[in-house]
Amino acid sequence: MKVLKFGGTSVGSIENMCNVKNIINNGNKKIVVLSAMSGTTNLLVAIANDIANKEPNEAIDKINKLHETYTVTIDKLLTSKVLNEEVKGYVSSVFDFLIACTYKAFSIGLENNIVAQGELLSTYMFNSYLQQEGISSVLLPALSFMRIDEDKEPNIPYIKENFEVAINTAKNSDIYITQGFICLDDNDEVSNLQRGGSDYTATIIGAAIKAEEVQIWTDIDGMHNNDPRYVENTNPISNLSFDEAAELAYFGAKILHPQTVTPVRADNIPVRLKNTMNPDAHGTLISNITSENGIKAIAAKDNITAIKIKSARMLQAHGFLKKVFEIFETYRTSIDMITTSEVAVSLTIDDDRNLDKIIKELEKVATIEIDKNQSIICLVGHSVVNHQDTYKLFQILQDVKIRMISYGGSKNNISLLVDTKDKINSLQKLNDYLFELVTL
Ligand code: ADP
Ligand code: ASP
Ligand code: MG
Repeated sequence: MKVLKFGGTSVGSIENMCNVKNIINNGNKKIVVLSAMSGTTNLLVAIANDIANKEPNEAIDKINKLHETYTVTIDKLLTSKVLNEEVKGYVSSVFDFLIACTYKAFSIGLENNIVAQGELLSTYMFNSYLQQEGISSVLLPALSFMRIDEDKEPNIPYIKENFEVAINTAKNSDIYITQGFICLDDNDEVSNLQRGGSDYTATIIGAAIKAEEVQIWTDIDGMHNNDPRYVENTNPISNLSFDEAAELAYFGAKILHPQTVTPVRADNIPVRLKNTMNPDAHGTLISNITSENGIKAIAAKDNITAIKIKSARMLQAHGFLKKVFEIFETYRTSIDMITTSEVAVSLTIDDDRNLDKIIKELEKVATIEIDKNQSIICLVGHSVVNHQDTYKLFQILQDVKIRMISYGGSKNNISLLVDTKDKINSLQKLNDYLFELVTL
């Protein structure tokens, strides 16, 4: 069986919902994972922020406007009077719940419940749309099987067992629809897989049922060789290895949630990236096949903080790095890049929620310098560190101040740390000289 995930844009308009219907209506049994309609999760986050900032009227205003846009969409989507009224009833109950949230005190639990409504709305509406079109489908509530543990990792044995139970309740159905992104945590509270998490839902389910393939349907024809939001003349890549895709997703290629590849690589389940608006385009196939050496794609990750930790006695002091790493571990903050010299170690983090506490601890053993607003530029390709083009990087970026370089950590990745203000220029130059064959 295949798992097909459709993102926010794919379920964000009547026309695209119709495209999704045509893509999935081919008689094969499949699991369909849906995101919230595009823009909804951002608005739900904004509503939760208003509640956190004690501005309930702002929140109510946003809730009422969002309710209105859903009413308009339902009127266009569901021409069947019975279904139209039934779905409007469900949608009203969701918006009543959101209004009730504005009277409550803010908590992370409240926020998680608010942001979960986007996927609950989209799946309910889309399932009813399929009924209207005479396509039989069943809604499987993600909260009955999707769960993370205390480390926020998917609880695979639980998911496997409970997904099987869910699917067995509707054995004869061909199309199973479920919510991406949302899950329960280890305390049975509503939680989520972080922004963009519907991709992760799809591969977690794919691994749990040993799917034949996972397809991620989005608004672009596959993974491009550079970030199309910032760079001109990017092109789709037809094939990527799991390793290459994992590096690109982790280092900022927004088309995939950072953890998308993790659940499926061990079982060698291919992941295909496809365009809902252009289903005939090849897209990108992520599999265990590695292709030619060389720089294949570039991604960038923002909001990076660089920390330089300087100790006069670093090399002599056994256990210094251990001490440093323990501090990051205590505050559950993962390190992305790291470089060392005789007297200092520089490293980067993308989660600075505990930065003040980390600095306080580090200052007990070293002098600290912090640089915020940094970006990691990551060049990815099979055996990229061995390729003859690699030497060109310094020529291409001769005008850019490179703060750190990570070379050889993996043979598929070279990472550079630059000030975020230099990011777009660096990405464009790398694109022009490495992929557009402009000569140096
Ligand atoms: P969805 O809502 O379908 O999950 P996303 O917005 O999360 O879609 O991801 C698709 C978007 O990712 C594209 O529209 C594109 O702007 C952006 N993107 C960033 N980097 C890349 C890349 N390297 N290749 C393709 N798309 C990328
Ligand atoms: N709706 C969620 C988000 O916007 C999850 C997703 O789209 O993948 O982050
Ligand atoms: Mg996404």
